[in-house]
Amino acid sequence: MSRKVIITVAPTGSIPTRKDNPNLPITAEEVAQETKRAYEAGACVVHLHARNPDTGEPTSDLEVFRAYLDAVRDACPIITQITTGGGATTLGLKAEDRLRPVEELQPDSASLNAGSMNFGRKLFPNTPDMMEAYAKRMKELGVMPEFEAYDLSMVQNVDYWIRRAGILDPPYQFSFVMGVMGGIPPTFKNLLALKESLPEGYTWQAIGIGRHQIPMGTMGVLLGGNLRVGFEDNVYLSKGVLAKSNAELVEKAARIIRELGLELATTEEARETLPLLNTA
Ligand code: ZN
Repeated sequence: MSRKVIITVAPTGSIPTRKDNPNLPITAEEVAQETKRAYEAGACVVHLHARNPDTGEPTSDLEVFRAYLDAVRDACPIITQITTGGGATTLGLKAEDRLRPVEELQPDSASLNAGSMNFGRKLFPNTPDMMEAYAKRMKELGVMPEFEAYDLSMVQNVDYWIRRAGILDPPYQFSFVMGVMGGIPPTFKNLLALKESLPEGYTWQAIGIGRHQIPMGTMGVLLGGNLRVGFEDNVYLSKGVLAKSNAELVEKAARIIRELGLELATTEEARETLPLLNTA
């Protein structure tokens, strides 16, 4: 049986604006429609940030997050993931405020950033205390943490602070985020090193920023991983050509996966593959 590849879509993020791409979805309805189209094109996980519907600015407003999740859940049966990191750099949120939407809304999964770093010119604080507290709470809630590793050292952080401490039993899901200024550069050698640092049985995806989205994603797929596409990380379909929608980026990824002789996972297959904790 050939391996099934999981595509995650990150439709809006917290950094791009409509100046970068006028097709960026902002309201709950827009995000839900983009997610539905991405789902129909082959995505089975959606990674969500929230934005103020009037200004487009990133927001931590619980009711905006709630509206997004409600609209997405109504639109399609995609696996839902919300950020716990976006508000740290863009809004300067405190640790407990970053976790609040996860506690209140209980998505299938949430990002859990695996170490502190400089994110561009800003400090992105993710201390061992925060990692431990988030992992404990997500386990209690049955929400799968996706460990976001922006560098090789962050894989070690998860091993040391989470696995050895016995806070959460492996296997874990990882994202390798490559190409943020302050994080690991997006090269094939670096992705190979990240992949080889994980024990057998873990699931992972490659996230390349900007023009590295498709090259890193494709290499991730060739190495046995999954990939993420979407406007959060990249707004271009190809050099100088803005993507009309997130679905267009998902279609491109799906086309490459199929040309490589692999199949796309359905949402049901992804639910069986990912170490999801939801028992509901
Ligand atoms: Zn994000």
